[in-house]
Amino acid sequence: MTDNLSTTEKLANILNRAGYKYTRPRQMVAEVLLDAKRHLSAPEIVDTVSEIDPSIGRMSIYRTLDLFTRLGLVRPAFQDSSVAHYVVMVDGHHHHIICQGCGRVIHFEQCPLEELTSFLQDKFNCEINGHLLEFFGRCNDCIQQD
Ligand SMILES: [Zn+2]
Ligand SMILES: [Zn+2]
Ligand SMILES: [Zn+2]
Repeated sequence: MTDNLSTTEKLANILNRAGYKYTRPRQMVAEVLLDAKRHLSAPEIVDTVSEIDPSIGRMSIYRTLDLFTRLGLVRPAFQDSSVAHYVVMVDGHHHHIICQGCGRVIHFEQCPLEELTSFLQDKFNCEINGHLLEFFGRCNDCIQQD
């Protein structure tokens, strides 16, 4: 996997390698997930995709989310609610700092978990393909308001 590919191209490649075509519903779900300014829940994804292309049925959107989850392209995350919001995994990583004051989600790229990943793989004799890392606390704005 080369680094100059866009995330959409990477998604398409992962699907192809797993034997799935990059069909229109899959393409639309991927684009909606990647374009969103925040993480969307399944019903929000269904609504957004249907607005763009009403010919895509709800069931095929839900099936696409299941497929993406199974392939590790997205993970459901639970932020402030019991409704899952889908995060896009970039090469198996997704990192959050979540503010418990205002709900703001900060993303960061640097991965602090490489050593832990090797340790866990050795300890449990397993293969780790990715992680969703979430820190909880308070953002700078919320700290300033005190
Ligand atoms: Zn995120
Ligand atoms: Zn905050
Ligand atoms: Zn990471």
